[in-house]
Amino acid sequence: MPTLLIKNARCVATFDHHDPQQARELVNASIFIQGNRIAFVGPTAGLPPEALAADEVIDARQHLVTPGLVNTHHHMYQSLTKAIPSTQNAELFGWLQGLYPIWAGLTPEMVRVSTQVAMAELMLSGCTTSSDHLYIYPNGVRLDDSIEAAQQIGMRFVASRGSMSVGQSQGGLPPDSVVEREDFILKDTQRLIEQYHDASHGAMLNIAAAPCSPFSVSRELMRESALLARSFKGQGVRLHTHLAENDHDIAYSREKFNCTPAEYAQDLGWLGADVWHAHCVKLDDAGISLFAASRTGVAHCPCSNMRLASGIAPIRRMLNVGVPVGLGVDGCASNDAAHMVNEARQALLLARVGRAMQPPEVRTLPNGDRRTFFGCDLGPTEMTARDVLGMATRGGAQVLGRDHDIGHIAVGMCADLALFDLGTLGFAGGAVHDPVGALLLCASPQADYTVIDGRVVVRKGQLTTLDLGPVVERHNALAIQLAMGV
Ligand code: ZN
Repeated sequence: MPTLLIKNARCVATFDHHDPQQARELVNASIFIQGNRIAFVGPTAGLPPEALAADEVIDARQHLVTPGLVNTHHHMYQSLTKAIPSTQNAELFGWLQGLYPIWAGLTPEMVRVSTQVAMAELMLSGCTTSSDHLYIYPNGVRLDDSIEAAQQIGMRFVASRGSMSVGQSQGGLPPDSVVEREDFILKDTQRLIEQYHDASHGAMLNIAAAPCSPFSVSRELMRESALLARSFKGQGVRLHTHLAENDHDIAYSREKFNCTPAEYAQDLGWLGADVWHAHCVKLDDAGISLFAASRTGVAHCPCSNMRLASGIAPIRRMLNVGVPVGLGVDGCASNDAAHMVNEARQALLLARVGRAMQPPEVRTLPNGDRRTFFGCDLGPTEMTARDVLGMATRGGAQVLGRDHDIGHIAVGMCADLALFDLGTLGFAGGAVHDPVGALLLCASPQADYTVIDGRVVVRKGQLTTLDLGPVVERHNALAIQLAMGV
């Protein structure tokens, strides 16, 4: 069994407690990995004797070690359509309508190559597990293409079988040419679960059932998808979709279904600990209560929400009542990056802006005095760096139903780790005071090392599993081909 020793780390932020403020941060600590699991974490002096003969030793005296970051929402094929000029300044529905005709030209090779490019970006930013939501299947594209790409690059993967079935002629948003038949969608989803879904501890691949959104699939498909996923009892097959992303999304729900998105989700059986919804920017207080009571998860995508001017998701209100929240970079055409540390930084900053925009609140102080607080007084306490890193690691693992084996650093957990070099320029003057806070406040660094399932997939800032140069070159050629095809 291969062994790996991460020796004398300046700081190991374990996130080994559900409250990030109470999790252990170890100084001058070591981590010993046997196979794909963590066998030891603690003071270097306490290392087991076999650790000294490890196959590979990483000198981490200058590093911050965190759990591998977990990305809970993405559309990796969109990597081919970053920064398309005609959709740079559109909101969600206009942006989608501008891109659907381009995406109609996707091919299986395009999906494979763009998935590798998006995953490379994620892994180089310290991300070790990602979900992907592929919901468009023209020209023979299959979810198998994404899965093949993930297996080649070595990323832990939650492949979500997305779908669209209600085209424009039926009152939906996408053109009819890119929707699929519902009976085929369900059959293909079942095939993928049976062929690929791994329910075991340390699984590298899970499959989720993921109709795209209320405005592109029918009620029946939502209901049937939930029944299908839940028919695999005890297998951890999860449900994923987009919900309450912006005001137009709410208006569509009101007009078509005569209810809020959260009420719609409840009616469809789409609340529960096996469900996670992307965005939820416009989830109202009643919706947040429904999510909390049912332990329904949320993928928070701050960059995309800013890029498309969707709004500021009420993340603090969700966390306060116990809604599981993870971070997601969202698709590459609305971010347009896949950098998990930067995503966490934006989540931190956006929460504070959101707080400052709230109306004044009258609060009773411990001594009984009543005082008016303006949002800007409370802003900086709305979200701390540790709160967000907790979301980006442990929170994401919970949202993906994987908190038992990934998302924090402890003996027996999967060896998914990110190491950041505190000697680099971006950390100068910050890491000496607080390396964990500095990770988000000072810079959005690349990972110096990323370890997935015990395997070093980024070493000294370079991907080890793939020769990235030719992949990027091919990706750019395919991006031009796709855009020219319209
Ligand atoms: Zn999305």
